[in-house]
Amino acid sequence: MRRLFHLRLAALALVAGLSLPALAQDKVLNLYSARHYQTDEALYDNFTKQTGIRINRVDSDDAGIFNRLKSEGAASPADVVLLVDAARLWRAENEGLFQPVRSAVLEERIPAQLRGKDSGEGPFWFGFSTRARIVVYDKASVAKADVDQYEKLALPVNKGRLCTRSGSHPYNLSLFGAMLEHLGPEKTETWLKGLVTNMARDPKGGDTDQIKAVASGECAVALTNSYYLARLMRSTVPGEREVAERVGVVFPNQADHGTHVNVAGGAVARHAKNREAAVKFLEYLSSPEAQGYFANGNNEWPVVAGTKLNNRALDAFGSFKRETVPISVIGMNQVKVQQILDRVGYK
Ligand code: FE
Repeated sequence: MRRLFHLRLAALALVAGLSLPALAQDKVLNLYSARHYQTDEALYDNFTKQTGIRINRVDSDDAGIFNRLKSEGAASPADVVLLVDAARLWRAENEGLFQPVRSAVLEERIPAQLRGKDSGEGPFWFGFSTRARIVVYDKASVAKADVDQYEKLALPVNKGRLCTRSGSHPYNLSLFGAMLEHLGPEKTETWLKGLVTNMARDPKGGDTDQIKAVASGECAVALTNSYYLARLMRSTVPGEREVAERVGVVFPNQADHGTHVNVAGGAVARHAKNREAAVKFLEYLSSPEAQGYFANGNNEWPVVAGTKLNNRALDAFGSFKRETVPISVIGMNQVKVQQILDRVGYK
């Protein structure tokens, strides 16, 4: 369909004696994305519809994108990089994989604490959506009061109950990095040792697997990002809503430092060849339309104030107290956290 359109344009251009390079088909944006959410397709298609810029997407996880950018160096075709974890964004910034962006649009829309370091020529990255790391539990066997703080997951009462994905997954590393800030190194090590002691099984699978394991009775308490639970709550797949209904939900630490919140964000790649299109794309991600996709499509919280929510799962979660540990601190704590995980045998 597009090709046909372009052929017609080309024919018209020839008839009119115009040259071809001005055609929109020349505009391409190379996107390296760690986002792997189905609803994002509509997000990208819409950008192409609005701007005529085609998106070439390379999908990988955060680590895969890191390795690729590093090995490609200055020859990298990447224009925009999307990552799904605060500490990874921080690390990429520090390892020189991004370039700063000065954009009045982005600086007006995105709160300062959800941007990368300002180099003097603008921040190195921008957050576009947030997600909470929450606790789900078996309502039949677990008292909410025993799991309403991250610290309590290490209590003896929770022995044999806990399921998580790998401790070294970015989502957990960032939560543990924030806890290191709250508790200090000794208490954090004791806490993580307690989590290992309380495991119902060795860490495995993704967050959705942990929720399902609680619903099936294999575990009684689990950690998950909020959007995975919201997805089950809104699912049309037979049985998935029942899974969500079977588990209790708690946003931990509401009485003190607040629930850990992570950020997904994007940046212009250091060696971007299509810089103008890359900035345009980041600005698009902060538009009401794109922010609506994050919220209503992927069940994340938008970062731009005033975004219209139409999502019964987010409504059910309601508002909550968010942790305020700076992203740079979480990023800097990662190495120490990994060392502790190795010492306590958190796989
Ligand atoms: Fe995820």
